[in-house]
Amino acid sequence: MTHAAEPPPGRPKAASALAEGSEPRAAGSVGASEPPPGRPKAASAPWGGSEPRAAGSVGAPYIGRFAPSPTGPLHAGSLVAALASWLDARAHGGRWLLRIEDVDTPRCVPGADRLIVQQLARCGLVPDAPPLWQSSRAAAYQTALEQLIDSGLAYPCACSRQDIAQAQAAAGITRQRGRELPYPGTCRPERGGLHGRAARAWRMHTGRFEQKWLAAPVHQARAAINDEASGAIHWHDRRLGAQQQQLSREVGDFVLKRADGLWAYQLAVVVDDAAQGITDVVRGQDLADNTPRQIALQTALGLPTPRYLHTPLVLGADGEKLSKQNGAQALDLSDPARALRAAARHLQLDADASDGSVGALLTRWTAQWQARLTA
Ligand SMILES: [Zn+2]
Repeated sequence: MTHAAEPPPGRPKAASALAEGSEPRAAGSVGASEPPPGRPKAASAPWGGSEPRAAGSVGAPYIGRFAPSPTGPLHAGSLVAALASWLDARAHGGRWLLRIEDVDTPRCVPGADRLIVQQLARCGLVPDAPPLWQSSRAAAYQTALEQLIDSGLAYPCACSRQDIAQAQAAAGITRQRGRELPYPGTCRPERGGLHGRAARAWRMHTGRFEQKWLAAPVHQARAAINDEASGAIHWHDRRLGAQQQQLSREVGDFVLKRADGLWAYQLAVVVDDAAQGITDVVRGQDLADNTPRQIALQTALGLPTPRYLHTPLVLGADGEKLSKQNGAQALDLSDPARALRAAARHLQLDADASDGSVGALLTRWTAQWQARLTA
């Protein structure tokens, strides 16, 4: 494995910064079963998944994580994800880690990382190790990219946003609302590569991945059961059930390193989940659609695939995921128990108990969560 922290030769520092790859994006349907409407609000909601792993069970000890981007303080939606991941770790007798996902530096707000750590602590959610900052991890991401290049699964791309839009239009593909179109593959090596243009970004060759890896019998035993016929990645979500996605058709060759030199979310998450030994990813449902890309990268890099649980989103007044863009307020933590109760209610936990201390509430909800795992 190579070790250079330097950019690969011939990779210019692009003058114009592209935002593509900057954040997780919805790339079409996850193509599987939504929970049926009117799902019972039972304490035994089937979030434990098909293979509950009791504390102390055989296999890797449970390690979970909460991985916020420091683009602002926690809001009601991010507290739900934090609480769910903490409860899942505690209910499994496992460890809970914190990772600050600050690769997209232009979007990060100075001091927000410290504020998030303080907000979590006020809610009794204290990580079992010092946080990991993604901004300190460039060498590991570079090593992973080189591994993908060496195995023919990553290639440089010279396209600007405009180039991509023109190629899509020429192919008769028009932009659909709320859905980003797959990259048309202009710079794939078998189509002539860069055509003399300067490399701007690096992309994952999803077509080659599907040919090379999904058909390989050795990978059929993985958690991500593949589908040789369609090239789709199949995976199991502990709440959403069976999911599948064909990357080459539904997502296209996604960005690994951006034209502005920043690391793309997908690669950073996969490298860091492995480095932190994460066995279980518990996060908001808006990220469910990213999972097949991450499974593909894990497979290509020879890394383990964690189990996944995607929690229901907190929606803003406009029906979209709660975010700063649609008016999410920073959490009012003058009464942390109150903020936690709201988050717990969203997770269908009993939030109305009279005992109000943060510690007592967390203990009660941990027991409820544990009961779900064995229900
Ligand atoms: Zn290109």
